[in-house]
Amino acid sequence: MTTETTPEATGTAAPDAALLAIRDLHVTYATGEGGLPAVRGVDLTVARGQIVGVAGESGCGKSTLASTVLRLQPPSATVSGQVLFDGRDVLAMRWGELRAVRWAGASIVFQGALHSLNPVHRIGAQLAEPMHIHQPGLDEARVTERVAELLDQVGMAPERAKSYPHQLSGGQKQRVMIAMALACDPELVVADEPTTALDVMVQAQVLNVLSELVRGRGVGMMMISHDLSVLADLCDRITVMYAGRVIEEGPADQVFAAPLHPYSGALSAAFPRVGDPAARFAPAGLPGDPPDPRNLTEGCSFAPRCPRAAPVCLHDEPGLVAYDDRAAACVRIGEPDLEAR
Ligand code: ADP
Ligand code: MG
Repeated sequence: MTTETTPEATGTAAPDAALLAIRDLHVTYATGEGGLPAVRGVDLTVARGQIVGVAGESGCGKSTLASTVLRLQPPSATVSGQVLFDGRDVLAMRWGELRAVRWAGASIVFQGALHSLNPVHRIGAQLAEPMHIHQPGLDEARVTERVAELLDQVGMAPERAKSYPHQLSGGQKQRVMIAMALACDPELVVADEPTTALDVMVQAQVLNVLSELVRGRGVGMMMISHDLSVLADLCDRITVMYAGRVIEEGPADQVFAAPLHPYSGALSAAFPRVGDPAARFAPAGLPGDPPDPRNLTEGCSFAPRCPRAAPVCLHDEPGLVAYDDRAAACVRIGEPDLEAR
């Protein structure tokens, strides 16, 4: 066995410029059957004008992470660590300060938000609501003007303000949700699977709208998806989560095209790029399901499903290790001969 490189442990402090710096975040839900650790020591940084993707199968803790960024987690959740927004810890803020951060500082497009538009109110009134709440000084003419601007930004005609949700397609409703998240000019947008319910063509349109808005305005974005190919096209960097932990982090194209961790490899194979000739073949399936966070076994959480698992993986849980501009938590990287250990 050879180990030429001695990778350094990660976990360094965020650069000053970070818009969002999540540090050693733990979120545990109280349940009837004991504590459920949904997020276990996550670090994540988003700079201004940067799109950071968060990938992982259902149940990996992505939505828990997203909601905690704006302190919107349910009361059953116990949280520790830091969520630094512009250097200030959201988790330690007083109510007034937190209120100012929500919407105007950071906003969120929730998973499944498509269905959260109020069926009895016109689109325009719903787009105006965050402005009424968070920018009470705006006069009504300006609010109406701003609603038209927002619709235009997401590629919809201003007349749509008069429509009711049932008069819109799924893609249009999702655009409205994105417009709503942009209503108060946030510096950070958290988008939790914003296109999952949409068909592939509409998904591509909505993603274009999102990335143009982010790039054009220099805001930061945390974009959550279980589909690594979507993130590869859209994001600057990708964080891959498994069982509440970060198992890989790096430049988006590298994580997708040359994943270090076997789990990222399986995700990448399961979601080939649209138009990729490999997509003609059945995606490489990943056997089994992610573990129940209440019953995590000793060792690497992915080991029971991992094609490369060695005996050592069943008793040591690896930490994130840096490889140049990337990081991964797997003892098999660069160590082909671990079977004996
Ligand atoms: P993802 O978005 O990656 O699918 P979630 O953050 O929704 O993951 O869920 C992570 C884990 O936390 C799952 O095991 C899920 O069942 C559990 N969970 C999520 N929300 C709650 C809650 N309110 N109470 C208890 N457990 C929850
Ligand atoms: Mg989710």
